[in-house]
Amino acid sequence: MDNCLFCKIIAGDIPSTKVYEDEKVFAFRDINPQAPVHVLVVPKEHLDSANAIDESNLDSVAACFAAIPKIAAGEGLENGYRVINNCGAAAGQTVMHLHFHLIGGRELSEKIV
Ligand code: AMP
Ligand code: ZN
Repeated sequence: MDNCLFCKIIAGDIPSTKVYEDEKVFAFRDINPQAPVHVLVVPKEHLDSANAIDESNLDSVAACFAAIPKIAAGEGLENGYRVINNCGAAAGQTVMHLHFHLIGGRELSEKIV
């Protein structure tokens, strides 16, 4: 996808700190971390947001969730972590390429769900 920040990161055209990669998934450290561990887990397939998820791309989404426990283990998050997706402007989504925030490494007390 032209002009998509995360597609450029996946392609290596913009630098990132990669923590995990497989055939369908790329994960890298958030540039503005909200916790000691803050990783963005991104499908290599460009999907604008969670609103674009359907039966045709479930493999990409499932691959992200299959990667998350592996990344969490690699980051030492055996005591737990949080996975967040912001979908759309009202939720504060700023990059229109589906991504899951994997956050941990400190006590996560502020719960909204
Ligand atoms: P969201 O607000 O849910 O769309 O999340 C976008 C996230 O991307 C934010 O947490 C940003 O800090 C992060 N971000 C933006 N640009 C970069 C970048 N070049 N490398 C790593 N993370 C980034
Ligand atoms: Zn993209």
